[in-house]
Amino acid sequence: MTDPTAVICYLCGLPIKDGSFSDDHAVPVALMARTQPKAKGFDYGGKLPTHAECNNRFGPETYVAKAIDLLEFLAGTEGHHDYQHRTHPHITIKALDSSKLPKFARRDMAFFKFLDVRDKDYAEFSDPEFFVGKPKTNPTRDALYVAMSVLAKSAAALLIKRDLHAVPSAWRIYAVPYSGATDAISFDEPLGLTKSFDTGIHVWRKQLGDTEWFVAFRAKSILLYLVFVLADKDMGPMIRQIFNDSQVHEFTGSCLNDLLTTGWRQL
Ligand SMILES: [Zn+2]
Repeated sequence: MTDPTAVICYLCGLPIKDGSFSDDHAVPVALMARTQPKAKGFDYGGKLPTHAECNNRFGPETYVAKAIDLLEFLAGTEGHHDYQHRTHPHITIKALDSSKLPKFARRDMAFFKFLDVRDKDYAEFSDPEFFVGKPKTNPTRDALYVAMSVLAKSAAALLIKRDLHAVPSAWRIYAVPYSGATDAISFDEPLGLTKSFDTGIHVWRKQLGDTEWFVAFRAKSILLYLVFVLADKDMGPMIRQIFNDSQVHEFTGSCLNDLLTTGWRQL
């Protein structure tokens, strides 16, 4: 039997013609410390076919580990502080101590739109003119959306490869993120025993109904609950009720590439 997903790009949902073929790891390489593929004691997510262009388009994937590190850092109380500009209170500045993020290179700072003021003197960046034309940013939100999009894409890849055996023609995904996760958090009991993909990278999947899947994705310090609804069914109110003390985000799109454009909205 041929694999019906073999020629459909799971990121855009369109057939792959010769010459544009690329393989995408179901679990992003950027999350893994170990070398894929198989290793004793670990699960291996394998690869899915994509257009080379779609694979390359998902650039935020490169930053997923950094996004998770940044979220963990910002969830803590050390090394960052919010300031209001003394004479121009409409300017809020989040100051980050770069020594607490030693793995952040200049391109990571650029990706998260940090302004590097280490070689600037105080007079220069305390002048409101310094901020004119600089992008406004919210690093917690930006890092969260990168992490949620990349983990949702990976969970979708695992569902397609292991459960659905086809690429859905529309996506509705609910995401409920938590910080502060550790290896002690396990869903083996309610969701079924699974192996880690790497130290700190663990995914549990469970079918809830004909068209609904629940995925718990633990990636380092992040725990992300995902509900995939593969039908035209608004489950937002119900999910908000279940997770009433948490943030609930929704993504709807015709393909996973829409995670890069329409993205998430908080319910
Ligand atoms: Zn594609």
